[in-house]
Amino acid sequence: MQTTNTGSPQNSTQPRGDASANVSPEEIARFASLASRWWDPDGESRPLHDLNPVRAAYIAARVDLRGARVADVGCGGGLLSEALTRAGARVTGVDLGEKVIGIAKLHLHESNLSVDYRVQSSADLAAAEPEGFDAVCCMELIEHVPDPAALVRDLETMLKPGGWLFMSTLNRTLAAFGAAILGAEYVMRMLPRGTHHYAQFLKPSELGRLLRHAGLELEDVSGMGYNPINRKAWLSRITAVNYVLSARKPT
Ligand code: SAH
Repeated sequence: MQTTNTGSPQNSTQPRGDASANVSPEEIARFASLASRWWDPDGESRPLHDLNPVRAAYIAARVDLRGARVADVGCGGGLLSEALTRAGARVTGVDLGEKVIGIAKLHLHESNLSVDYRVQSSADLAAAEPEGFDAVCCMELIEHVPDPAALVRDLETMLKPGGWLFMSTLNRTLAAFGAAILGAEYVMRMLPRGTHHYAQFLKPSELGRLLRHAGLELEDVSGMGYNPINRKAWLSRITAVNYVLSARKPT
């Protein structure tokens, strides 16, 4: 039992050995290596910093966040969790990366916010709190898990009837390959090489099908435009690179 307040997670769930966790250990290790610089707006998480206000506004335009219970699945260092908490939500942030959850907890000392961060899989959160959340957010995670359909089913299980699901990911297009892999990883060297695997990107129609099969109703798909030079981000009709979507669980 750890007694020092280092921000290290307690009751850690070990991803390895848990066959139901739907996780690749290499992915967790890759994000762990970025953890200490997660809150540096000029570090490797820079695109997430720049996109964060846009996706937070997308969510706030659909859900009254004041007092809402929100799950942030694959929360990383907590950029979205903190933004939603500032907007009045009661946020539970889960991630299987112990390092990133440690950083997310540490940052609460700086922001003076309160977020319930846990090292927990989507399956375990769904089992612990079925129909527990008014909204569930899962940003930039699905392209990193071995079984995307299982992840979507977990997210559906967590939602209260009438609840909102928000997801964002990269489209599987030449444009996304150019921007997210060639551009960000090779030309601008913003992201470490190997951050993304093209074959795991999902087209909106494919993600839409996974949502439908899980019993969710797609409400909107919007593109997220991003200019890495001036660091501006905006919602757009062009979904060819990064997109965000909303879906509802029927009442
Ligand atoms: N959602 C955050 C972080 C995205 S980075 C944001 O958009 O700001 C992807 C995150 O997913 C990393 O923190 C990584 O540790 C986590 N991750 C990768 N595979 C996972 C899995 N199978 N289950 C839970 N988290 C996972």
